[in-house]
Amino acid sequence: MKDFHIHYHLDECGADEMTMPNIEKACIDLGIDEAAVLKHYSQAMPNGEKDWVCWHVQGTKELDKFLSEYRAYTPKQVKFHCGVETELLNDKGDINIPVEDQNKVDIVQLSIHFMIDTQKLPMDMIMYPDTYFCPEYGTEAGKKLWNSWLERVNSVGAEYLLEATVKGYYNAIKRFPKIKSLAHMGNGVGHLVRYGADIESVPMSRRIEIYEPLIKLMAENGINWELTSGGMWQELFNVAYKAGVSFTCTADGHQLYQGWGPLCKHTEAEEALAKLLANYK
Ligand SMILES: [Zn+2]
Ligand SMILES: [Zn+2]
Repeated sequence: MKDFHIHYHLDECGADEMTMPNIEKACIDLGIDEAAVLKHYSQAMPNGEKDWVCWHVQGTKELDKFLSEYRAYTPKQVKFHCGVETELLNDKGDINIPVEDQNKVDIVQLSIHFMIDTQKLPMDMIMYPDTYFCPEYGTEAGKKLWNSWLERVNSVGAEYLLEATVKGYYNAIKRFPKIKSLAHMGNGVGHLVRYGADIESVPMSRRIEIYEPLIKLMAENGINWELTSGGMWQELFNVAYKAGVSFTCTADGHQLYQGWGPLCKHTEAEEALAKLLANYK
């Protein structure tokens, strides 16, 4: 089995136990024979400050420290790759790490952690990736903010936002060859749902049509489509799998066996993929 999304203790979100020897031991135990260990990399936060919600600016200095620890370890049997997890920022395909630092790692895992900037709906600081992060959450002021945001989301529509997302991924892959994987991708609409877009209003056939250019590009370039235990829409899986896209599973492990996101849950993602494969036609 492969897991290209394992976090490291140098990130605040990674448990202290996430060291190379411990990660390798757990991988062997879980049957993972090829893995990528990742450092979070975000050269800027949406608010222009060092910290935002649960993300922090992480740059060259932090990456270099990670790489020197990573390289000091000689694996016994697991085939390791070093990588970063960074964010897609907009529909033009800008990503949150400069090219010089992309070139230091084997793999860039491209995530969407917060709403991307699109032409019709620019990033706005009233938007939080989860409403409970909003300082005004639960208050009248918070409700007002959310409702005014929803109005804007509805006026551009879920179809436009899905197109912008797919375009963003597409452009990023075209521009940055170190992107080898789309992180915890699932249906690729997690951020849209969290930000209130009514994705169900877009017919499945239209969603698939929007995805088609990205699917083709991923298949041609061997870009991994990463799944968690949440799986994805069977119809979209069928089209992508038929086109030759490779799917990889992850628990997005931040701990080994316990905690809110342990590596041992990798097997649940494998089960989700097995179910999709069983229903594939
Ligand atoms: Zn992530
Ligand atoms: Zn992650």
